[in-house]
Amino acid sequence: MNISHIEHIGIAVKNLEESISYYENILGFKCYAIEEVPEQKVKTAFFMVGQTKIELLESTDPEGPIGKFIEKKGEGIHHLAFATKNLESALTEVEAKGVQLIDKTPRKGAEGLHIGFLHPKSTQGVLTELCEDKNK
Ligand code: ZN
Repeated sequence: MNISHIEHIGIAVKNLEESISYYENILGFKCYAIEEVPEQKVKTAFFMVGQTKIELLESTDPEGPIGKFIEKKGEGIHHLAFATKNLESALTEVEAKGVQLIDKTPRKGAEGLHIGFLHPKSTQGVLTELCEDKNK
C-alpha cells in the first residue's frame, strides 16, 4: 500500500451554509467547491488546507449515511480519507490482511475521485476512506 497523505477529513454537519460560514469567517478558509453527490445522499463543500481538504457533508435524506450518522452521533468528524495509488489493489491488499471492506471495488466519490471505504469495525472505530485521483 502506498499512502501519500491525508486527502481529506470528512465532517458531518446539519447545515452546510452555517458550517461554511464558520470555516470561512472564523478559520479564514475559502470554500472552493460545493457539490451534490446523489449516490451518497449528500451535499458537500470543500476547503483546501495545505494539501489536505476539509469536506463538509450535509445529508439530503435522513435515511442516507450522513443523515443516520448525525441522528446517532450528532455532528462531527465522520471519516478520514487517505490518498493512495492504485486503489483497486490497495483494497484487495487490506482485505487480504483481514480488514472488512464497505466497498469491495472502487466507486465514484465527490470531485471525480475513486473511493473505497474500510469498515470502522476493522479500523478502531475510524471510518476510513482510501481514494485515488486518476487525474494526477
Ligand atoms: Zn470522503
